[in-house]
This record gives sequence, C-alpha cells and structure tokens, in this order.
Amino acid sequence: MRAVVFNGPYDVSVETVPDARVEQPSDVVVAVRAAGVCGSDLWTYRGQANVTPGSRIGHEFVGEVVEVGSDVRGMAVGDWVIAPFRFSCGECEYCRSGLPTSCVAGGFWSREVVEAGQGEFVRVPQADGTLVKVPGGAPSAERIPSLLTLSDVLPTGVHAVTKAGVSSGSTAVIIGDGAVGQCAIIAARRAGAEEIIVLGGQHSDRKSLAEQFGANLFLSERGDDAVEAVLEHTTGRYPDHVVECVGTGGSFDTAVKLARPGSTIGYVGLPHGVNLDVARLFARNIGIAGGVASARYYAPLLLDDVLEGRLNSGAVFTAELGLEQAALAYQLMDERRTIKALLKPEAV
Ligand SMILES: [Zn+2]
Ligand SMILES: [Zn+2]
Repeated sequence: MRAVVFNGPYDVSVETVPDARVEQPSDVVVAVRAAGVCGSDLWTYRGQANVTPGSRIGHEFVGEVVEVGSDVRGMAVGDWVIAPFRFSCGECEYCRSGLPTSCVAGGFWSREVVEAGQGEFVRVPQADGTLVKVPGGAPSAERIPSLLTLSDVLPTGVHAVTKAGVSSGSTAVIIGDGAVGQCAIIAARRAGAEEIIVLGGQHSDRKSLAEQFGANLFLSERGDDAVEAVLEHTTGRYPDHVVECVGTGGSFDTAVKLARPGSTIGYVGLPHGVNLDVARLFARNIGIAGGVASARYYAPLLLDDVLEGRLNSGAVFTAELGLEQAALAYQLMDERRTIKALLKPEAV
C-alpha cells in the first residue's frame, strides 16, 4: 500500500509501506477515501515538531471499513467511518466523561502507533472507542469533505467557541483565519452570535471564506492595531467573547487585551511561545478555557448537521489532490496558496 512519509524538513514523499492488517482483535482496517493535510502537519513538514524522518504522517481521514477484528462490536465491513485525530479506548474514566483526548490507553497517529492517516489504508487500534460510524452507508461525494472536517478542525472550532461561552445575540471576536478559525466562525454562527469579527491576514481567499461562513467584519491588522480596530468598530465596548485559534504569543496577547472583564477566552491554538499577562487576567476576572479538542466527543454531536447539509465546513478544503501528489499539497499549504488540502487515494 502507498502512504505519505516525512523524510526531513520540506521533504515528504509517497512510499510503498507494509500493508495494513488487523493485528489486535480490537482493530479494524479502513480504506481511506479522503485524508486532510492539517496546519499541525506543517510543523512536522517544516522540521519544527521533533518527528523522526521516515515516520508516516496525517491524522485526519474518513473511509470504509474493509477488515474487522474479532472483538469489534460497533462496525462491520462496508461501514463508513470518521477517524478523530487521536485514538482512544472509549471505556476509561476520561473517555466516559467526554474527554477522550486524555484517554489512558489512547495516543496519536504516527506517534503511539506507526500508522497515520495519509495513505491508502490505516490499521485503527481500539476501533470501537476510536471511530465514529457514519449512519446510512456511503455518503454522497458532496458530503465527504465536511465529514472529513469532523476528524479535527470542525470539533476544534466548536470546542473553542463552546469554551468561550459564545451566546445568542452576542459579539464574538475570532482570532485566526486558518481552517480552525474558519470552523470557529461556523460554530459561533451556530451558537447564535449576532456579530462575528475575524482577525485574519492578508489573503483574500481566507477573507471571502470567512464572509461565506458568516463573518460580519474581517480585519487584517495585527497586535495593538487589531485591538484598536476592534474597539473602534464597537465604539469602545469590549466584545462579549474572544476565541483564540492561532496559538502564538502575539495572538494570545491580542486575546487578553480584547477580552471583556468577567469573560472567558476560549483557546485551541497549539501554544508556541506564549506568556500570559496573568496580572491583567486577575484584575479583570478574565478566565481562559480550552485546549486540545476531543474530536471523538464532538463529532457525533455534529454529524447529523453535516450529513443534512446544515454545516458545510468542507469548504475549508480549497485544494483536492491525489494521494500521489501529497508533496505538492504540502507545498501549497506551506506557501499559503491554499487554506487546506484534501488528499484522495488513487485506489478509490
Ligand atoms: Zn488536524
Ligand atoms: Zn479511554
């Protein structure tokens, strides 16, 4: 079978690797129909994630079950499934309380197991706990990209908005215009926000997608200029909610400066070089909540809305390529020539 392999900084290729097969009774093998390239895969791609060369890569995939271990109860050959970006047992205290990212027996693709999402087939451990089954058999081709967002970016956007407590009729600021920020716009709209202000960059494709998803105002200012631009727009009133989807020190700084006294900042950006101004948080009673999103928890809650076309988060995939063109997909994402890339194994 073919799969994407990270060879070193700025070098990924599609290689022939050992065929996926059931190894434990709780495994299934999934034939991948669509896999995503994630912003966090770019950390690996750029050599900033301490990943061993030769590792497989990718943690977002949907597909069809083609082989089932003898202990698997919840799915059969032919079922369509969504794989969250982390596998989990479904039975421990964290899985049962809606926090499968803290599963005591779980782990990440290509870290705790060698398997990863960008390939023709994937052996999925603890399949009953890990996978989310798509009801009704094979989905229409049109729905597949949105189903794929349930692996990571849509649950992550929803987590940020949920933790920020975005409420009906409110004003929400979303920091970030990548796939997660875009999904946070969808989530804020879904939560009933009346005005959504996005702090993004200079790319017109991101601005138009944000507007398509429901942003009322898209600002390209950064740092204190962004804070000033928002407050000018709101005539000095601090926004009801701030949602942080980037993870840099600058982004957190902006979030803290914009946060309304008494509010909670929702954050899902993987933190890099963040020093929080805790004195300001203290003085203004600002809370911080969020972290790594449990896609396995959120995906079933969002699945019906995706299948019935009420959530069209698949529009974040602005490029679709064959699996063999994975190197090009990474290049396009690295150079910000596409928001997010979808890979389709040729075997389909
Ligand atoms: Zn991802
Ligand atoms: Zn667990």
